[in-house]
Amino acid sequence: MALSIDLKDIRHRDALSARHPADDGGRPSLIGMDREELATAVRAAGVPERQVRMRVQQLWHWLYVRGVSDFNDMANVSKALRAELAERFTIARPRIVDEQISQDGTRKWLLQFPPRGAGKPVEIETVYIPEDGRGTLCISSQVGCTLTCSFCHTGTQKLVRNLTADEILSQLLLARDRLGDFPLKDTPQGAIVPSEGRRISNIVMMGMGEPLYNFDNVKKALLIATDNEGLSLSRRRITLSTSGVVPEIYRTGEEIGVMLAISLHAVRDELRDELVPINKKYPIAELMQACRDYRGLSNARRITFEYVMLKGVNDSLADARELVRLLKGIPAKINLIPFNPWPGSRYQCSDWEQIEAFADFVNRAGYASPIRTPRGRDILAACGQLKSESERLRKSERLALEAMMIAGHGEA
Ligand code: SAH
Ligand code: SF4
Repeated sequence: MALSIDLKDIRHRDALSARHPADDGGRPSLIGMDREELATAVRAAGVPERQVRMRVQQLWHWLYVRGVSDFNDMANVSKALRAELAERFTIARPRIVDEQISQDGTRKWLLQFPPRGAGKPVEIETVYIPEDGRGTLCISSQVGCTLTCSFCHTGTQKLVRNLTADEILSQLLLARDRLGDFPLKDTPQGAIVPSEGRRISNIVMMGMGEPLYNFDNVKKALLIATDNEGLSLSRRRITLSTSGVVPEIYRTGEEIGVMLAISLHAVRDELRDELVPINKKYPIAELMQACRDYRGLSNARRITFEYVMLKGVNDSLADARELVRLLKGIPAKINLIPFNPWPGSRYQCSDWEQIEAFADFVNRAGYASPIRTPRGRDILAACGQLKSESERLRKSERLALEAMMIAGHGEA
């Protein structure tokens, strides 16, 4: 299928940035703080010890149930305390530099975060993918990536820095604002977080960066996202994708308890060393052991193995056979990802018949093997295509990419 380039590329830089100022005046954000840190913050704002717990609870409610981004909206907090807090802290959302909506409803935001310390402002991308009856938010964990997987666009961008817990969580809060997922703020019903009908029902840590190289901040953000008195997302609806940082895979199971996805992509060390270079440090056998040991696995809680289909590289039926052998004994499903090209990439997506033959083989061996439909390709929102504004595509590159996609490599 040829992809028509009918971009609904809406840019509301001015209108949005007025509402979402990037400049936090160097004040720390209350977003992303755990309860203990919030207690320290309210003490600093002069709250007497006997009121600290109650104030922390109120703040938690305003931030994560009501979704306020302005201290003035905190109706049951006194004016004086609101002013004290506003002087010392911020709860503002990041600045939206750009918002794009794909023909298929996928949305991509380019967000800017203020500098930390002496650094510059940074930009990352967050993607929302609506599906029947659910919606998934794809969150970034780093600006760029230290790893250099040879088929990934983010991997060509050097790591600029880790995102803070506040910046990771803010992607979810901002997307909920934009999608109308926070209930009305000023009605009695506003206090309820509906468990049904949320636009964002699922989260995947599959945006820019390697989440397990930013473990502490990712953990902090996800524990807040799953907190029952706040955003209360289910751990089973959060999937963290890693290229295979073995020690932190164990910690993810023990300390965060979300679903795991492994970017496997190759079944022999020699090839995986090339495609996913972290394999040199943590080879396939160690990775598989960490998967076998992952806490809480069952047929209802399986590990997803991601496998990008690269023509003539990793897509033979011999590879499929070896894959099935490797996964023996692990409750697993296999997500086949048609390779998404980018200018300068050296691979092609496997032919569609080959992807289907591969999927059939794996499926006959008893594993679910969905082929991931590329979403939001027209706005470069598909897997592995995220890259920040600092290195955006030039127009000539964009045209080259569109031509590649029209040529139909693996178009679903
Ligand atoms: N760093 C983490 C999470 C981000 S990448 C990881 O590597 O798992 C999310 C998924 O997109 C990974 O499975 C990654 O291998 C895959 N991916 C990267 N580039 C891609 C591309 N060009 N086409 C298809 N999938 C890609
Ligand atoms: Fe980094 Fe993941 Fe891309 Fe590899 S695939 S370069 S780990 S973002």
